[in-house]
Amino acid sequence: MSKSLQAIRGMNDILPEQTPLWRYFEGTVARLLDNYGYKQIRMPIVEFTELFKRSIGEVTDIVEKEMYTFEDRNGDSLTLRPEGTAACVRAVLEHGLTGAGQPQKLWYIGPMFRHERPQKGRYRQFHQIGLEVFNIDGPDIDAELIVLTWRLWGLLGIRDAVKLELNSLGTSESRGRYKVALVEYLSAHLDKLDEDSQRRLKTNPLRVLDTKNADTQAVLVNAPKMADYLDDESRIHFEGLKARLEAAGIPFVINTKLVRGLDYYSKTVFEWVTDKLGAQGTVCAGGRYDGLVEQVGGKPTTGVGFAMGIERLILLLETLEQVPEEIARQVDVYLCAFGEAAELAALALSEKVRDQLPNLRLQVNAGAGSFKSQFKKADKSGALYALILGEDELAQQVIGFKPLRGQGEQQNIAFDALAAHLATCVVQG
Ligand code: ATP
Ligand code: MG
Repeated sequence: MSKSLQAIRGMNDILPEQTPLWRYFEGTVARLLDNYGYKQIRMPIVEFTELFKRSIGEVTDIVEKEMYTFEDRNGDSLTLRPEGTAACVRAVLEHGLTGAGQPQKLWYIGPMFRHERPQKGRYRQFHQIGLEVFNIDGPDIDAELIVLTWRLWGLLGIRDAVKLELNSLGTSESRGRYKVALVEYLSAHLDKLDEDSQRRLKTNPLRVLDTKNADTQAVLVNAPKMADYLDDESRIHFEGLKARLEAAGIPFVINTKLVRGLDYYSKTVFEWVTDKLGAQGTVCAGGRYDGLVEQVGGKPTTGVGFAMGIERLILLLETLEQVPEEIARQVDVYLCAFGEAAELAALALSEKVRDQLPNLRLQVNAGAGSFKSQFKKADKSGALYALILGEDELAQQVIGFKPLRGQGEQQNIAFDALAAHLATCVVQG
Protein backbone atom coordinates (compact mmCIF):
# COMPACT_ATOMS: atom_id res chain seq x y z
CA MET A 1 0.00 0.00 0.00
CA SER A 2 1.31 3.46 -0.79
CA LYS A 3 2.54 5.35 2.26
CA SER A 4 0.03 8.15 2.02
CA LEU A 5 -2.76 5.64 2.56
CA GLN A 6 -1.55 4.46 5.94
CA ALA A 7 -2.41 5.86 9.33
CA ILE A 8 0.02 8.41 10.71
CA ARG A 9 2.81 6.91 12.79
CA GLY A 10 1.85 6.80 16.46
CA MET A 11 -1.86 7.24 15.67
CA ASN A 12 -3.75 4.00 16.03
CA ASP A 13 -7.01 2.54 14.88
CA ILE A 14 -8.90 0.88 17.68
CA LEU A 15 -10.23 -2.21 15.96
CA PRO A 16 -13.60 -3.91 16.53
CA GLU A 17 -11.99 -6.68 18.57
CA GLN A 18 -10.53 -4.06 20.94
CA THR A 19 -13.50 -1.74 21.33
CA PRO A 20 -15.40 -3.91 23.82
CA LEU A 21 -12.53 -3.54 26.28
CA TRP A 22 -12.36 0.22 25.67
CA ARG A 23 -16.09 0.56 26.23
CA TYR A 24 -15.95 -1.55 29.38
CA PHE A 25 -13.12 0.62 30.71
CA GLU A 26 -14.75 3.92 29.74
CA GLY A 27 -18.12 2.81 31.08
CA THR A 28 -16.63 1.75 34.40
CA VAL A 29 -14.89 5.11 34.84
CA ALA A 30 -17.94 7.12 33.75
CA ARG A 31 -20.21 5.32 36.23
CA LEU A 32 -17.73 5.81 39.03
CA LEU A 33 -17.37 9.54 38.34
CA ASP A 34 -21.14 9.95 38.18
CA ASN A 35 -21.36 8.31 41.57
CA TYR A 36 -18.82 10.72 43.06
CA GLY A 37 -20.69 13.73 41.69
CA TYR A 38 -18.44 14.78 38.80
CA LYS A 39 -19.96 16.30 35.67
CA GLN A 40 -18.69 15.69 32.17
CA ILE A 41 -17.45 18.57 30.00
CA ARG A 42 -16.50 18.27 26.32
CA MET A 43 -14.02 20.69 24.80
CA PRO A 44 -12.84 21.05 21.18
CA ILE A 45 -9.64 19.24 20.30
CA VAL A 46 -8.10 22.36 18.73
CA GLU A 47 -7.29 25.56 20.62
CA PHE A 48 -5.22 28.68 20.05
CA THR A 49 -1.53 27.80 20.47
CA GLU A 50 -1.23 30.69 22.91
CA LEU A 51 -3.43 28.88 25.45
CA PHE A 52 -0.99 25.99 25.78
CA LYS A 53 2.06 28.23 25.83
CA ARG A 54 0.58 30.29 28.63
CA SER A 55 -0.71 27.41 30.72
CA ILE A 56 1.67 24.50 30.23
CA GLY A 57 4.72 26.77 30.11
CA GLU A 58 7.13 27.72 27.32
CA VAL A 59 10.02 25.64 28.65
CA THR A 60 8.34 22.28 28.99
CA ASP A 61 8.86 19.22 26.79
CA ILE A 62 5.31 19.53 25.51
CA VAL A 63 5.50 23.13 24.33
CA GLU A 64 9.12 22.99 23.21
CA LYS A 65 8.94 19.89 21.08
CA GLU A 66 5.74 17.87 21.23
CA MET A 67 2.88 20.03 19.97
CA TYR A 68 1.08 19.65 16.66
CA THR A 69 0.89 23.32 15.75
CA PHE A 70 -0.30 24.73 12.44
CA GLU A 71 -1.63 27.86 10.88
CA ASP A 72 -5.24 27.73 9.76
CA ARG A 73 -6.67 29.52 6.74
CA ASN A 74 -7.10 32.73 8.72
CA GLY A 75 -3.45 32.74 9.67
CA ASP A 76 -4.22 31.89 13.32
CA SER A 77 -1.77 29.60 15.10
CA LEU A 78 -3.72 26.59 16.33
CA THR A 79 -2.63 23.45 18.19
CA LEU A 80 -4.12 19.99 18.58
CA ARG A 81 -4.55 19.73 22.34
CA PRO A 82 -1.65 17.91 24.01
CA GLU A 83 -3.61 17.62 27.28
CA GLY A 84 -7.00 18.59 28.67
CA THR A 85 -6.43 20.87 31.64
CA ALA A 86 -5.67 24.03 29.66
CA ALA A 87 -8.77 23.69 27.49
CA CYS A 88 -10.90 22.88 30.52
CA VAL A 89 -9.69 25.98 32.34
CA ARG A 90 -10.32 28.05 29.22
CA ALA A 91 -13.87 26.69 28.90
CA VAL A 92 -14.65 27.20 32.58
CA LEU A 93 -13.51 30.83 32.38
CA GLU A 94 -15.23 31.53 29.09
CA HIS A 95 -18.57 30.32 30.46
CA GLY A 96 -18.21 31.75 33.95
CA LEU A 97 -18.51 28.33 35.60
CA THR A 98 -16.30 29.29 38.52
CA GLY A 99 -17.60 32.82 39.04
CA ALA A 100 -18.11 33.99 42.64
CA GLY A 101 -15.99 31.14 43.93
CA GLN A 102 -18.42 28.50 42.74
CA PRO A 103 -16.97 24.98 43.07
CA GLN A 104 -16.88 22.73 40.02
CA LYS A 105 -16.09 19.02 39.78
CA LEU A 106 -15.58 18.18 36.11
CA TRP A 107 -14.29 15.35 33.95
CA TYR A 108 -13.54 14.83 30.29
CA ILE A 109 -12.46 12.08 27.94
CA GLY A 110 -10.87 12.20 24.54
CA PRO A 111 -7.83 12.12 22.29
CA MET A 112 -4.67 14.13 22.98
CA PHE A 113 -1.80 14.75 20.57
CA ARG A 114 1.93 14.87 21.22
CA HIS A 115 4.74 14.45 18.74
CA GLU A 116 6.74 11.92 20.77
CA ARG A 117 8.71 8.85 19.77
CA PRO A 118 6.07 6.14 19.41
CA GLN A 119 6.63 2.99 21.45
CA LYS A 120 4.64 0.66 23.69
CA GLY A 121 2.44 2.88 25.89
CA ARG A 122 3.53 6.07 24.13
CA TYR A 123 1.70 7.30 21.05
CA ARG A 124 1.18 10.51 19.10
CA GLN A 125 -2.57 10.32 19.40
CA PHE A 126 -3.51 8.87 22.75
CA HIS A 127 -6.54 9.09 24.99
CA GLN A 128 -7.04 10.43 28.46
CA ILE A 129 -9.76 10.61 31.02
CA GLY A 130 -9.16 13.71 33.10
CA LEU A 131 -10.70 15.27 36.18
CA GLU A 132 -10.51 18.91 37.23
CA VAL A 133 -11.86 20.47 40.41
CA PHE A 134 -12.08 24.22 40.90
CA ASN A 135 -12.55 26.36 43.99
CA ILE A 136 -12.12 23.61 46.56
CA ASP A 137 -8.94 24.38 48.45
CA GLY A 138 -8.41 21.76 51.11
CA PRO A 139 -6.61 18.43 51.15
CA ASP A 140 -9.99 16.69 51.40
CA ILE A 141 -10.56 17.04 47.67
CA ASP A 142 -6.97 16.06 46.81
CA ALA A 143 -7.66 12.93 48.85
CA GLU A 144 -10.97 12.30 47.07
CA LEU A 145 -9.23 12.30 43.69
CA ILE A 146 -6.83 9.66 44.91
CA VAL A 147 -9.48 7.66 46.76
CA LEU A 148 -11.68 7.41 43.68
CA THR A 149 -8.79 6.25 41.49
CA TRP A 150 -7.97 3.64 44.14
CA ARG A 151 -11.58 2.47 43.94
CA LEU A 152 -11.28 2.35 40.15
CA TRP A 153 -8.18 0.14 40.35
CA GLY A 154 -10.20 -2.11 42.62
CA LEU A 155 -13.12 -2.31 40.19
CA LEU A 156 -10.73 -3.11 37.36
CA GLY A 157 -8.79 -5.69 39.38
CA ILE A 158 -5.40 -3.96 39.06
CA ARG A 159 -4.83 -2.63 42.58
CA ASP A 160 -1.90 -4.90 43.29
CA ALA A 161 -0.06 -3.69 40.20
CA VAL A 162 -0.07 0.06 40.88
CA LYS A 163 1.74 2.17 43.42
CA LEU A 164 0.98 5.73 44.52
CA GLU A 165 3.83 8.23 44.57
CA LEU A 166 3.24 11.53 46.28
CA ASN A 167 5.04 14.84 46.73
CA SER A 168 4.34 18.45 47.56
CA LEU A 169 5.80 21.25 45.45
CA GLY A 170 4.72 23.96 47.90
CA THR A 171 3.37 27.34 46.93
CA SER A 172 5.08 29.30 44.18
CA GLU A 173 6.88 31.37 46.87
CA SER A 174 8.34 28.35 48.67
CA ARG A 175 9.16 26.74 45.35
CA GLY A 176 10.93 29.94 44.34
CA ARG A 177 13.11 29.77 47.47
CA TYR A 178 13.81 26.10 46.83
CA LYS A 179 14.73 26.78 43.21
CA VAL A 180 17.36 29.27 44.29
CA ALA A 181 18.94 26.75 46.66
CA LEU A 182 18.79 23.96 44.06
CA VAL A 183 20.33 26.08 41.33
CA GLU A 184 23.11 27.15 43.69
CA TYR A 185 23.88 23.54 44.60
CA LEU A 186 23.69 22.18 41.04
CA SER A 187 25.75 25.04 39.63
CA ALA A 188 28.55 24.02 41.95
CA HIS A 189 28.44 20.54 40.32
CA LEU A 190 27.82 21.68 36.77
CA ASP A 191 30.52 19.52 35.17
CA LYS A 192 28.93 16.34 36.55
CA LEU A 193 25.48 17.04 35.09
CA ASP A 194 24.33 15.59 31.78
CA GLU A 195 23.80 17.97 28.91
CA ASP A 196 20.02 18.01 29.14
CA SER A 197 20.15 18.79 32.85
CA GLN A 198 22.66 21.61 32.26
CA ARG A 199 20.16 23.13 29.88
CA ARG A 200 17.24 22.59 32.24
CA LEU A 201 19.20 24.16 35.07
CA LYS A 202 18.90 27.43 33.17
CA THR A 203 15.36 27.05 31.85
CA ASN A 204 13.42 24.91 34.33
CA PRO A 205 15.67 23.74 37.19
CA LEU A 206 13.08 21.58 38.99
CA ARG A 207 12.96 19.33 35.93
CA VAL A 208 16.56 18.30 36.66
CA LEU A 209 15.10 16.33 39.59
CA ASP A 210 13.41 13.77 37.34
CA THR A 211 16.42 13.11 35.14
CA LYS A 212 17.07 9.50 34.15
CA ASN A 213 20.83 10.11 33.89
CA ALA A 214 22.78 8.15 36.53
CA ASP A 215 25.57 10.73 36.98
CA THR A 216 23.10 13.53 37.53
CA GLN A 217 21.10 11.31 39.88
CA ALA A 218 24.26 10.76 41.92
CA VAL A 219 24.73 14.52 42.24
CA LEU A 220 21.11 14.87 43.33
CA VAL A 221 21.54 12.56 46.32
CA ASN A 222 22.95 15.41 48.38
CA ALA A 223 20.92 18.20 46.80
CA PRO A 224 18.65 20.36 48.97
CA LYS A 225 15.24 18.74 49.55
CA MET A 226 12.01 20.41 48.58
CA ALA A 227 10.41 19.20 51.83
CA ASP A 228 12.78 21.41 53.83
CA TYR A 229 11.57 24.49 51.97
CA LEU A 230 7.83 23.97 52.27
CA ASP A 231 5.93 26.89 53.75
CA ASP A 232 3.54 26.17 56.66
CA GLU A 233 0.45 26.33 54.49
CA SER A 234 1.75 23.69 52.08
CA ARG A 235 3.09 21.52 54.89
CA ILE A 236 -0.26 21.51 56.71
CA HIS A 237 -2.03 20.77 53.42
CA PHE A 238 0.32 17.87 52.71
CA GLU A 239 -0.06 16.47 56.24
CA GLY A 240 -3.84 16.71 55.84
CA LEU A 241 -3.68 14.73 52.61
CA LYS A 242 -1.45 12.04 54.06
CA ALA A 243 -3.71 11.67 57.11
CA ARG A 244 -6.72 11.16 54.85
CA LEU A 245 -4.97 8.57 52.71
CA GLU A 246 -3.97 6.71 55.85
CA ALA A 247 -7.55 6.89 57.13
CA ALA A 248 -8.76 5.46 53.82
CA GLY A 249 -6.13 2.71 53.97
CA ILE A 250 -4.41 3.71 50.74
CA PRO A 251 -0.70 2.90 50.65
CA PHE A 252 1.64 5.56 49.23
CA VAL A 253 5.30 6.44 49.04
CA ILE A 254 6.75 9.93 49.19
CA ASN A 255 8.90 10.63 46.16
CA THR A 256 10.69 13.93 46.73
CA LYS A 257 11.90 13.92 43.13
CA LEU A 258 8.41 13.88 41.70
CA VAL A 259 7.99 17.25 39.98
CA ARG A 260 5.77 16.44 36.96
CA GLY A 261 6.48 17.78 33.51
CA LEU A 262 4.16 20.75 33.52
CA ASP A 263 4.84 24.18 34.95
CA TYR A 264 1.53 24.82 36.57
CA TYR A 265 1.54 22.53 39.60
CA SER A 266 1.67 23.66 43.24
CA LYS A 267 1.37 21.78 46.54
CA THR A 268 0.15 18.22 45.85
CA VAL A 269 1.53 16.19 42.95
CA PHE A 270 1.01 12.46 42.52
CA GLU A 271 1.47 9.60 40.09
CA TRP A 272 0.11 6.07 39.96
CA VAL A 273 2.89 3.91 38.54
CA THR A 274 3.20 0.28 37.57
CA ASP A 275 6.24 -1.85 36.90
CA LYS A 276 4.27 -4.10 34.53
CA LEU A 277 4.51 -1.94 31.40
CA GLY A 278 8.22 -1.29 31.06
CA ALA A 279 9.41 2.29 30.68
CA GLN A 280 5.94 3.80 30.25
CA GLY A 281 4.89 3.06 33.82
CA THR A 282 2.80 6.08 34.80
CA VAL A 283 -0.88 5.31 34.26
CA CYS A 284 -2.39 8.31 36.03
CA ALA A 285 -0.88 11.58 37.12
CA GLY A 286 -1.96 14.90 38.51
CA GLY A 287 -1.81 17.50 41.17
CA ARG A 288 -2.87 20.87 42.43
CA TYR A 289 -2.52 23.97 40.25
CA ASP A 290 -3.71 26.90 42.33
CA GLY A 291 -2.06 29.53 40.13
CA LEU A 292 -3.10 28.28 36.72
CA VAL A 293 -6.47 29.96 36.27
CA GLU A 294 -4.94 33.37 36.99
CA GLN A 295 -2.10 32.57 34.60
CA VAL A 296 -4.63 31.97 31.84
CA GLY A 297 -6.33 35.28 32.60
CA GLY A 298 -9.01 34.49 35.19
CA LYS A 299 -9.55 35.57 38.78
CA PRO A 300 -7.57 33.65 41.40
CA THR A 301 -9.22 30.19 41.43
CA THR A 302 -7.75 27.08 42.98
CA GLY A 303 -7.64 23.87 41.02
CA VAL A 304 -6.62 20.24 41.33
CA GLY A 305 -6.88 17.41 38.84
CA PHE A 306 -5.38 14.40 37.15
CA ALA A 307 -5.38 12.56 33.86
CA MET A 308 -5.11 8.85 33.22
CA GLY A 309 -3.77 7.34 30.02
CA ILE A 310 -6.39 4.99 28.61
CA GLU A 311 -3.99 3.05 26.33
CA ARG A 312 -1.67 2.29 29.24
CA LEU A 313 -4.53 1.15 31.47
CA ILE A 314 -5.92 -1.05 28.70
CA LEU A 315 -2.44 -2.54 28.23
CA LEU A 316 -2.29 -3.17 31.96
CA LEU A 317 -5.68 -4.91 31.97
CA GLU A 318 -4.48 -7.14 29.14
CA THR A 319 -1.10 -7.82 30.71
CA LEU A 320 -2.69 -8.81 34.01
CA GLU A 321 -5.42 -10.74 32.20
CA GLN A 322 -8.07 -8.70 33.94
CA VAL A 323 -10.34 -8.60 30.91
CA PRO A 324 -13.80 -9.79 31.97
CA GLU A 325 -14.90 -12.70 29.77
CA GLU A 326 -18.43 -11.45 29.26
CA ILE A 327 -17.38 -8.19 27.57
CA ALA A 328 -16.19 -10.03 24.49
CA ARG A 329 -19.65 -11.48 23.78
CA GLN A 330 -21.76 -8.95 21.95
CA VAL A 331 -24.60 -11.11 20.67
CA ASP A 332 -27.19 -12.94 22.79
CA VAL A 333 -29.31 -14.48 20.07
CA TYR A 334 -28.72 -15.08 16.35
CA LEU A 335 -31.70 -15.56 14.08
CA CYS A 336 -31.34 -17.73 10.96
CA ALA A 337 -34.09 -17.65 8.32
CA PHE A 338 -34.36 -19.77 5.16
CA GLY A 339 -36.24 -18.55 2.10
CA GLU A 340 -38.00 -15.30 1.23
CA ALA A 341 -41.20 -16.01 3.18
CA ALA A 342 -39.29 -16.95 6.32
CA GLU A 343 -37.08 -13.88 6.00
CA LEU A 344 -40.15 -11.61 5.89
CA ALA A 345 -41.66 -13.32 8.90
CA ALA A 346 -38.32 -13.20 10.75
CA LEU A 347 -38.05 -9.46 10.26
CA ALA A 348 -41.54 -8.83 11.61
CA LEU A 349 -40.99 -11.22 14.50
CA SER A 350 -37.59 -9.86 15.47
CA GLU A 351 -38.86 -6.28 15.52
CA LYS A 352 -41.73 -7.37 17.79
CA VAL A 353 -39.24 -9.07 20.11
CA ARG A 354 -37.11 -5.90 20.18
CA ASP A 355 -40.20 -3.89 21.18
CA GLN A 356 -40.67 -6.17 24.16
CA LEU A 357 -37.00 -6.70 25.06
CA PRO A 358 -35.22 -3.45 24.21
CA ASN A 359 -31.93 -4.62 25.72
CA LEU A 360 -31.79 -7.96 23.93
CA ARG A 361 -28.76 -8.23 21.64
CA LEU A 362 -30.43 -9.93 18.70
CA GLN A 363 -28.61 -10.34 15.44
CA VAL A 364 -30.68 -11.28 12.41
CA ASN A 365 -28.81 -13.09 9.66
CA ALA A 366 -28.31 -10.95 6.59
CA GLY A 367 -27.23 -12.21 3.19
CA ALA A 368 -29.28 -15.44 3.20
CA GLY A 369 -27.16 -18.61 2.90
CA SER A 370 -27.52 -22.34 3.42
CA PHE A 371 -28.39 -23.90 6.76
CA LYS A 372 -24.75 -24.76 7.28
CA SER A 373 -23.38 -21.31 6.50
CA GLN A 374 -25.95 -19.46 8.62
CA PHE A 375 -25.37 -21.82 11.48
CA LYS A 376 -21.65 -21.25 11.27
CA LYS A 377 -22.19 -17.49 11.45
CA ALA A 378 -24.49 -17.93 14.44
CA ASP A 379 -21.82 -19.91 16.26
CA LYS A 380 -19.05 -17.49 15.34
CA SER A 381 -21.08 -14.51 16.54
CA GLY A 382 -20.67 -15.77 20.07
CA ALA A 383 -24.44 -15.92 20.58
CA LEU A 384 -25.80 -18.13 23.33
CA TYR A 385 -28.84 -19.20 21.28
CA ALA A 386 -29.77 -19.59 17.65
CA LEU A 387 -33.32 -19.10 16.37
CA ILE A 388 -34.23 -21.09 13.28
CA LEU A 389 -37.04 -20.20 10.94
CA GLY A 390 -37.65 -22.34 7.83
CA GLU A 391 -40.70 -23.26 5.79
CA ASP A 392 -41.91 -25.94 8.25
CA GLU A 393 -41.66 -23.68 11.27
CA LEU A 394 -43.36 -20.85 9.42
CA ALA A 395 -46.29 -23.08 8.53
CA GLN A 396 -46.76 -23.85 12.24
CA GLN A 397 -46.03 -20.27 13.40
CA VAL A 398 -43.19 -21.51 15.60
CA ILE A 399 -39.47 -20.88 15.65
CA GLY A 400 -36.68 -23.31 16.50
CA PHE A 401 -34.77 -22.33 19.63
CA LYS A 402 -31.35 -23.94 19.87
CA PRO A 403 -28.83 -23.47 22.69
CA LEU A 404 -25.38 -23.04 21.13
CA ARG A 405 -23.27 -23.43 24.24
CA GLY A 406 -24.65 -26.73 25.48
CA GLN A 407 -27.47 -25.62 27.76
CA GLY A 408 -30.29 -28.02 26.86
CA GLU A 409 -32.15 -29.37 23.83
CA GLN A 410 -33.55 -27.66 20.78
CA GLN A 411 -37.29 -26.89 21.02
CA ASN A 412 -39.97 -25.07 19.08
CA ILE A 413 -41.45 -21.88 20.54
CA ALA A 414 -44.66 -20.25 19.31
CA PHE A 415 -44.13 -16.81 17.74
CA ASP A 416 -46.31 -15.22 20.42
CA ALA A 417 -44.33 -16.80 23.24
CA LEU A 418 -40.85 -16.04 21.92
CA ALA A 419 -40.14 -12.78 23.76
CA ALA A 420 -41.32 -14.23 27.07
CA HIS A 421 -39.16 -17.30 26.54
CA LEU A 422 -36.04 -15.27 25.68
CA ALA A 423 -36.62 -13.11 28.74
CA THR A 424 -36.24 -16.20 30.93
CA CYS A 425 -32.95 -17.36 29.43
CA VAL A 426 -31.02 -14.22 28.47
CA VAL A 427 -29.81 -11.85 31.19
CA GLN A 428 -30.99 -8.38 30.19
CA GLY A 429 -28.18 -5.79 30.37
P1 ATP B 1 5.23 10.60 30.62
O1 ATP B 1 6.16 10.97 31.74
O2 ATP B 1 4.96 9.14 30.52
O3 ATP B 1 5.60 11.24 29.31
P2 ATP B 1 3.52 12.82 31.17
O4 ATP B 1 4.00 13.31 32.46
O5 ATP B 1 3.95 13.49 29.93
O6 ATP B 1 3.83 11.24 31.03
P3 ATP B 1 0.82 13.69 31.60
O7 ATP B 1 0.90 14.87 30.75
O8 ATP B 1 0.77 13.86 33.06
O9 ATP B 1 1.95 12.65 31.20
O10 ATP B 1 -0.45 12.82 31.16
C1 ATP B 1 -1.15 11.96 32.05
C2 ATP B 1 -1.13 10.54 31.59
O11 ATP B 1 -1.41 10.43 30.20
C3 ATP B 1 0.22 9.86 31.72
O12 ATP B 1 0.43 9.42 33.02
C4 ATP B 1 0.07 8.71 30.77
O13 ATP B 1 -0.66 7.65 31.36
C5 ATP B 1 -0.73 9.31 29.65
N1 ATP B 1 0.15 9.74 28.56
C6 ATP B 1 0.91 10.86 28.47
N2 ATP B 1 1.55 10.93 27.30
C7 ATP B 1 1.20 9.81 26.61
C8 ATP B 1 1.52 9.30 25.31
N3 ATP B 1 2.32 9.95 24.47
N4 ATP B 1 0.97 8.12 24.93
C9 ATP B 1 0.14 7.44 25.76
N5 ATP B 1 -0.20 7.88 26.97
C10 ATP B 1 0.31 9.04 27.41
MG1 MG C 1 5.46 13.13 28.51
